[in-house]
Amino acid sequence: MAEAPLMEKIVSLCKRRGFVYPASEIYGGLNGFWDYGPLGVLLKNNIRDSWWRDMVECPPIGPDGHPIDMVGVDTAIIQNPKTWVASGHAATFTDPMVDDRETKQRFRADHLFGLFISPIADEEIKDVLQAGASTLIAFPYRTVIASSVGEAIDEFKKPKVSKPWQLGDIKQGSTDPSAYGGRATNHKGDERAFFIRHIKLSELKQDASRIPSPFTGNTGTLTEPRAFNLMFETYVGAVRDEESKVWLRPETAQGIFLDYKNIIDTTRVKVPFGVAQIGKSYRNEVTPRNFIFRSREFEQMEMEFFCHPDESAKWYEFWKVERMRWWKSLGVKAENLRLRDHEQDELSHYSKMTVDIEYKYPFTSPDFGELEGIAHRGCYDLTQHQQHSGQRLDYFDQELQLKLKEQGASAEEIKEKSRYIPNVIEPASGLTRAVLVLLCEGYAEDPTRPSPVYMKFDPKMAPIKAGIFPLVNKEGMPEIAEKLYMDLRTKFMCEYDPKQSIGKRYARMNEIGTPYCITIDGETLKDQTVTIRERDTLKQDRVAIEKVKTYLSERLS
Ligand code: ATP
Repeated sequence: MAEAPLMEKIVSLCKRRGFVYPASEIYGGLNGFWDYGPLGVLLKNNIRDSWWRDMVECPPIGPDGHPIDMVGVDTAIIQNPKTWVASGHAATFTDPMVDDRETKQRFRADHLFGLFISPIADEEIKDVLQAGASTLIAFPYRTVIASSVGEAIDEFKKPKVSKPWQLGDIKQGSTDPSAYGGRATNHKGDERAFFIRHIKLSELKQDASRIPSPFTGNTGTLTEPRAFNLMFETYVGAVRDEESKVWLRPETAQGIFLDYKNIIDTTRVKVPFGVAQIGKSYRNEVTPRNFIFRSREFEQMEMEFFCHPDESAKWYEFWKVERMRWWKSLGVKAENLRLRDHEQDELSHYSKMTVDIEYKYPFTSPDFGELEGIAHRGCYDLTQHQQHSGQRLDYFDQELQLKLKEQGASAEEIKEKSRYIPNVIEPASGLTRAVLVLLCEGYAEDPTRPSPVYMKFDPKMAPIKAGIFPLVNKEGMPEIAEKLYMDLRTKFMCEYDPKQSIGKRYARMNEIGTPYCITIDGETLKDQTVTIRERDTLKQDRVAIEKVKTYLSERLS
């Protein structure tokens, strides 16, 4: 039997071991909604707590050698609806959506990929890019919905999708690495060149009727792309009318801008400073997919860093470096992360520059997908809220005023320069997407081990830090093990497990990523030592029972 794709194995482990369950599963689930189970919530909280500690409680050291200023907030999910009119979300927080008139299904227009097959038998593809540019192959033979070329390739490789063509080896273009292609054969033995690429929005606008539906393969059934607002609506109070209509926030950022004035007035922060927030956001995604990667309810970890406009480029660079460093500190391998600058036409309505930190997810590989966006938002948000609310949101920079005075600047220049609307650099990441990254990063297989599947979480991130087992459930071992557990649990998330064979207990702990297993055995009764088995190396250390806490502290801090 063919082996299940990596992502399927990860999803199945998540369900089996209690990391992530489909929300309302007993009623058939609800597309785009997920529950975090007993282990998933621990993993999520570990990421959340690290972010909060490293960004808010012990923030990074700034370019001047001093820790930057950062404060936290927790703002309401439902705000005055004027917020979203001012921010531009009511008008422009949309995705282009295409309907299939035949099946009544809907998909995101920018998530369509095409398989192009040459109509000419002997056309040689020297380079898949040339094939991509070929005018001979103007329309796709089949289409699929995917968020990356890696995912599209996986879909097209399924024979029922590309039928009757069997796709041979798929090569990456040498001149354009985003182009992929090869040679396909059918049951009659015909051979043709093919390539796979993203279908542009402009092509869908122009040729919707000639592009096959990703659901049926039929042409003539797709509509032109139309804008679809992603915000969920609801009503506040007893009356359901336009007046009482509100939106669930699609990002946590706006709550920070709304509190910016309160923070300046009530705390001691001075520009440059940041405000951080972690919380739920809601987007009515057209095609939620790839497990928890794109959900309709998810959690974000966002910071708005307010700075002088002349210093914004410096802070933009600062956050790029800091945020990459932070992801690596969670145990994410450097080769699975990359920075990708947004093209001009990709930028959001508010952004001057944006760079994404991307991760190589199993479903995007060999390509990467977004994990965090770092946007230079200029003074867009505060200016908009100032205009729409009528409240002054500019900043009087006393320190700059003094500095300019010392430099002998004119009164006019001082007045003009020391009052301004700060620029904002926004590092915005997904907490639930980070859970997915750690699950993908941690998943490891090694058939030579007694437990062939294990989760190689960085020990600091592991949901359970130590499993404590009496070798047998008698001879005084459970009492010692329980005593050790009662001591360790005050400092680390531990599990006491006296049941099943020791092999099964080790296997389970490995599968949920517990870095240390501590076994109380016959030796313990004689010399007060225990065995500590390390998850990745399977190495066993004999440690005195009173030294176990220090042993774990040294390795988990
Ligand atoms: P995408 O291009 O993937 O739709 P985005 O650029 O709209 O994402 P932002 O608005 O920049 O995303 O949000 C910041 C972060 O929030 C993203 O980098 C991602 O980690 C997370 N995020 C956004 N949308 C979702 C979602 N639907 N499900 C899970 N996480 C999300």
